[in-house]
Amino acid sequence: MIIDDRHYDIIVIGSGAGGGTLAGALSRQGRRVLLLERGGAMALSDQNVADVDLFRKDRYHPRNERWFGPDGDPIAPQTTYALGGNTKIWGAVLERMREKDFDDLPLQNGISPRWPFNYQHLAPFYDQAEHLYQVHGKSGVDPTEPARNGDFGHAPKPLMPFLEPLREGLKRQGCQPYDLPLSWSSSQEDPSGDAQLYGLDNADSEKLEVRSMARVMRLHVNPSGREVKAVEADVDGETWLFSADVVVLAAGAINTAAILLRSSSEKHPRGLSNGSDQVGRNLMNLQLTSILQLAAERNNGRYARSLGVNDYYWGDKNVSFPLGHIQAAGGVLQDALFAESPPVLSLVSKLIPDFGLERLASRSVAWWAMTEVLPDPHNKVWLNNDQIRINYLHNNREAHDRLVYRWIDTLTAVEADPITKVVTKAPTHPRGEAPLSVVGYACGTCRMGDDPAASVVDGDGRSHELDNLYIADSSVFPSCPSVGPGLTTIALALRMSEALKQRFDG
Ligand SMILES: Cc1cc2nc3c(=O)[nH]c(=O)nc-3n(C[C@H](O)[C@H](O)[C@H](O)COP(=O)(O)OP(=O)(O)OC[C@H]3O[C@@H](n4cnc5c(N)ncnc54)[C@H](O)[C@@H]3O)c2cc1C
Repeated sequence: MIIDDRHYDIIVIGSGAGGGTLAGALSRQGRRVLLLERGGAMALSDQNVADVDLFRKDRYHPRNERWFGPDGDPIAPQTTYALGGNTKIWGAVLERMREKDFDDLPLQNGISPRWPFNYQHLAPFYDQAEHLYQVHGKSGVDPTEPARNGDFGHAPKPLMPFLEPLREGLKRQGCQPYDLPLSWSSSQEDPSGDAQLYGLDNADSEKLEVRSMARVMRLHVNPSGREVKAVEADVDGETWLFSADVVVLAAGAINTAAILLRSSSEKHPRGLSNGSDQVGRNLMNLQLTSILQLAAERNNGRYARSLGVNDYYWGDKNVSFPLGHIQAAGGVLQDALFAESPPVLSLVSKLIPDFGLERLASRSVAWWAMTEVLPDPHNKVWLNNDQIRINYLHNNREAHDRLVYRWIDTLTAVEADPITKVVTKAPTHPRGEAPLSVVGYACGTCRMGDDPAASVVDGDGRSHELDNLYIADSSVFPSCPSVGPGLTTIALALRMSEALKQRFDG
């Protein structure tokens, strides 16, 4: 074992939306930060969907990583271990949660629980997050948009030409499509923004030390069990111990829980910070269904996510419970999630003669229907002989089904409208649900709350049980909004950087 003789102000574990953002912000405050990241730099060719390799089975799945599902079957998780984490392959749609998402929200099957603070409290950090990640968007169009301090700093990028008539067609059906807020960069080769670019590359390089290929295994506590005294990591096959005044876990909703559970000790027999027995529980994974529409004209199949529709976010005619969010998925070849939808791909072969992946991509418009789920203590990440096991059953199913069928009705009406020529009537709309292996949107396994008996961290992300341990990733979400968790994770990380500033400055 090698003991690192340097002592840092803060160690951040994981460089995704939460960790990458936080490490950059803390270094800019002048703190001495060590970032431990399990992966390395992702090759540009892997970040860009340059060819139909997108559908290669092992793409977006770390080699040799196997988790196990509820029945004990192995799962190859779709997750990214790299500098930037899952933001290296995300859709870069950065949405704010709506005001009501922070409150007790009645869904069809129960109450989606409130957060320890309201939207107004997080709003200034949403402003900072959008600024840092150069989010391009236009306010005042989406009827569910929460109150904001002025328009986005950057106007939306122009849509692919064939999407504009589709936008008008949707409007004729009474929808209010809007430009999805997207993080963009100026790079031609890698145009979407991510946590490597806007978190790590924005850091003060004198203050931030990045150790890639450093997989954190467990945390060690001091004799009282009240503080983390060392972080144990596997660095290129050797065991290292690192130390800091403050340790922040940001390894993502599955791995943060796994690290805490693996860190059990005499003082913490159920795992670290797990007196409440909530670590690993309440796993929430958005319900995601991909729906394909037949395009009348060819497109290049490689465009960014584009239009959003929230007309059914809070319900529909005769339905007073939330249904969820719709987004144009982007070109099929651009969207990692489509690689996980074999049912769509097999169904589409019936729809498009001479089916081939290129042809499918260029002759279709892809949509995602996204619906939140409720936290359920039985939906959990746990360890079995050090292997990650996931017990998971989706809930809030009817709301999601209603959203999917409502959207297919809307698409059918658009296709029947003679003015809309860019899409064609089709006998079916092939669709497929994301399987359990798609965990990129996961959240909730270390939830925040005021009650130490029912949560893992407090409203600042600080462990209820260990004075110098914090969590800065999507595992702290008490509920799971129907919009993506990315911007909220970034805003929470920026908020944590302020809390840590006060801790250090007194
Ligand atoms: C294909 C795809 C598309 C998506 N599109 C969107 C979108 O458009 N909008 C949106 O809001 N969200 C999107 N998401 C979800 C979004 O990417 C996540 O919500 C977000 O990245 C979560 O941030 P995080 O910090 O919790 O975890 P991550 O970003 O997953 O980062 C975790 C980091 O920890 C590292 N790590 C893990 N274990 C260890 C360990 N033991 N030691 C050291 N490091 C470790 C990982 O390598 C990774 O870098 C998408 C996800 C996927 C997979």
